[in-house]
Amino acid sequence: MVSLRVTFPIHNRSNLTFCFLLLTFYFPILLSASTSHSTVDVRVLELFHPQEIRVIAKRDTFFVQLKNSYLSINGKKGNVFFQKDEFLIVEISGKIERKFNGTLKIYPGENEIIIVNRVLPDDYLASIVGAEMGDAPFEAQRAQAIVSRTYLYKNLKRHKHYDFCDLTHCQVYKGKEAETEETRKAVEQTDRIVLWNGNKIADIYYHSTCGGQTADFTSIFEGTTECLVSVSDSNFCKDSPHYRWEWKLSVEEAPFVEIRVATRAPDGRVTEIDADGEKEKGWKFRMRLARQFGWNKLRSSWFTVKKNETYFHFKGKGLGHGLGMCQWGAKELTKQGKTAEEILKHYYPKLLLGIRD
Ligand SMILES: [Zn+2]
Ligand SMILES: [Zn+2]
Repeated sequence: MVSLRVTFPIHNRSNLTFCFLLLTFYFPILLSASTSHSTVDVRVLELFHPQEIRVIAKRDTFFVQLKNSYLSINGKKGNVFFQKDEFLIVEISGKIERKFNGTLKIYPGENEIIIVNRVLPDDYLASIVGAEMGDAPFEAQRAQAIVSRTYLYKNLKRHKHYDFCDLTHCQVYKGKEAETEETRKAVEQTDRIVLWNGNKIADIYYHSTCGGQTADFTSIFEGTTECLVSVSDSNFCKDSPHYRWEWKLSVEEAPFVEIRVATRAPDGRVTEIDADGEKEKGWKFRMRLARQFGWNKLRSSWFTVKKNETYFHFKGKGLGHGLGMCQWGAKELTKQGKTAEEILKHYYPKLLLGIRD
């Protein structure tokens, strides 16, 4: 492999001896370089489909533009790799500005600029705990840190050219913006602890609001696993805005004429729906309608549906698949005096806590 690396001198930076910036021209094969387990590669800001960004690194600013298949950086062709700066700000004009720890790799995608943030696991987790559970009491944040760390080590390389996206598909990550002193402490005070399924790191799931009962793995996905079982959450998540919901879908907009619940699991989830004589798995149906109408309409696969002359009336419980830890439930359990360990025991009764070396 050949790469040409050009190092630029840093101006007026006598107090920043160790900071430097590399502008690196890569052959495409280098762009998929594998990640060492000591860092995590997260694709960021994908939601904004960036065509043009500004990167502020210390006192230098770089304008990066997508030009057909290559990037123009301050008017010159190349891919860019920012390294060892204490702060890196990425701006997508008029849309968002975000600060990152670690380093950035920026390269051209098919129709947008791809920005990958290479970050230490603890920095990544401190941000995730903030984004996922920032307003929660401390023990709930500790529980989230353990669950998110477990997810991290179980799912490295979830995407082909990087480990994770920054969306709910993986875990919500917002760079430095979401971390606080508390979320850092939650990560530090759960150092290296993950959930184990026997001698393997557990295949973990968590969600916003279960609606009163978490889901069994078999009610949502194909296959079986003994590790994720349904548990009663009584009214622990009742303060969530998603605890109970309704959605009226007009008959004109609906992608079906008739619909009925064919089968339902003991945990309440619709496991099979019959739409115009075609059977579909309940969770697949939920995801299909969520993609078509938005994530806040048919919020889970725990629902009933009735049709009248003008609309289909869905009434449901919870937001998300309902597997594993219920985040709203975890907040309530913390208020009731439960520790992170007790919360995790409640939501993952078959899993064990242990150190990952
Ligand atoms: Zn993802
Ligand atoms: Zn719940």
